[in-house]
Amino acid sequence: MAFAGVSGTIGGAGPLALLHGGAWAIPDTALADHQEGLAEALAAAQFALSDARPAIDAVTRIVAALEGHGAFDAGCGAMLNRAGDVELDAGLMDGPTGRYGGVMAVQRLAHPIRVAYDLLQHGNGQAALLAGDGAEAFAEREGHTLVANETLICERERQRYAEHRAEADVDSSDSFLPDNAPSDTVGALVRDAEGRLAAATSTGGMTGRRSGRVGDSPIIGAGTFADNGTCAVSATGDGEVFMRWLAGHEIHARMRHAGQSLADAAEHVVQVDLAPNGGSGGLVAIDRDGNVVMPFSCEGMYRGVQCEGDPPRTAIYR
Ligand code: ASP
Repeated sequence: MAFAGVSGTIGGAGPLALLHGGAWAIPDTALADHQEGLAEALAAAQFALSDARPAIDAVTRIVAALEGHGAFDAGCGAMLNRAGDVELDAGLMDGPTGRYGGVMAVQRLAHPIRVAYDLLQHGNGQAALLAGDGAEAFAEREGHTLVANETLICERERQRYAEHRAEADVDSSDSFLPDNAPSDTVGALVRDAEGRLAAATSTGGMTGRRSGRVGDSPIIGAGTFADNGTCAVSATGDGEVFMRWLAGHEIHARMRHAGQSLADAAEHVVQVDLAPNGGSGGLVAIDRDGNVVMPFSCEGMYRGVQCEGDPPRTAIYR
């Protein structure tokens, strides 16, 4: 397949990783650091694949690399909410077992995806999704360091927040989401050497959103989904619309109940269900045969593929 396209089969039966770093009208000024961030994450992907890590471990490592880079709307460098704080959501799902974990609206975690991973590892008997203080208390008990919110805020996002706030009628609105808001959410999918699928997504939401707002990324079936019988999906875009359509699960359901191919199901969800209903953005998806799709309805989507042992490949535009 020509990787600059948005669907095809990559890498035969071998292990592979697919990632995204958001979908929006990408300005030239954002290109260099995002490409560097993708390259670092693809190196983490190559390491995880060559080390024969299970898919769920590999997606956690890849997303943690993206959270730690600083270019993306995840971890350190995430966009600020209406109160001027970083507030993060992250979720992941294991295709063979159906287990999942997610944390929402957390303010003191540099790597929320790692805490979501710990929740998954505990099994889903007691809790699979935790929000706010409860999620942070769980993280601390698991040995994660809680950090001051201030340390997660970067100068780029401080400026973006100040600009949007100055333009908005802040007194009369609960949030001041700009039109065509950037979307730098990150996500990763892996099919490992045993054919196991996994998906992970992490985000700081959108600049100026209401405090406590939770998007689609940690909502299993919406922004993140994996089932070894069908597909794994990680999404980025207008979370409220992706949740309404349960974007990831809808692709799975079309494959499972209607016998659709991954490409047909994903294209329908992105271009017919989401885009005309205010759900701009995109997603990456993979099925158990190694078919890969990366549809998006906006100008571009940062995306990358790593097949074990091959050079990494990245693309932004169509
Ligand atoms: N989907 C994310 C959210 O709604 C935002 C994004 O992808 O940029 O929180």
